Amino acid sequence: MQLFQQLDARTFKHRVDARGRISHVNDEWLDFAAENGWPISAADVVGRPLMEFIGNPELHYLYGLLLARLRAGRGPVRYQYRCDAPDCRRFMQMVLQFDPETREIEFASKILSIKRRAPQAILNDTHAHDDGSLDVCSCCKRVNMAGRWTEIEDAVVRLNLLGREDLPRINHSVCQDCVSELSDLAHP
Ligand SMILES: [Zn+2]
Repeated sequence: MQLFQQLDARTFKHRVDARGRISHVNDEWLDFAAENGWPISAADVVGRPLMEFIGNPELHYLYGLLLARLRAGRGPVRYQYRCDAPDCRRFMQMVLQFDPETREIEFASKILSIKRRAPQAILNDTHAHDDGSLDVCSCCKRVNMAGRWTEIEDAVVRLNLLGREDLPRINHSVCQDCVSELSDLAHP
């Protein structure tokens, strides 16, 4: 465990102001975005509403509840999530904290551990798309297989996608387990 933390001890931080707009991102946050195929500058994100970056309506709602809980002084909030890359599973921890002086909420995340895997082409956005789509949970990165949420490696085998040139699109969704967890955090 200690080894993993020495591997990448960075803390990725962004803050949201009282109007729900991003007011700050740290250099580590920008570096991590670039490393994950999203090369942007602070000027590209600061001043934009946080909710613009959360694509799923159910998550909009849950994050709205979480932010309200924090602003009511009932924080901090901690949860674990996944931020995977095609060639690894990344197990992350997020801590949300409200600063009553500035009225800002800080999102601080760290990598708890990384598990390498064979690269999953479907997570690489440069591949050609077929007509299909796969619901992937934005929080735990599992895939919806007819109501059963499973790891992407298993879904790729079961859907016979190995070696295919055209792959389904990824649809950013949220699974029921993660909805329940975030909902419990929002209503402690
Ligand atoms: Zn999930």
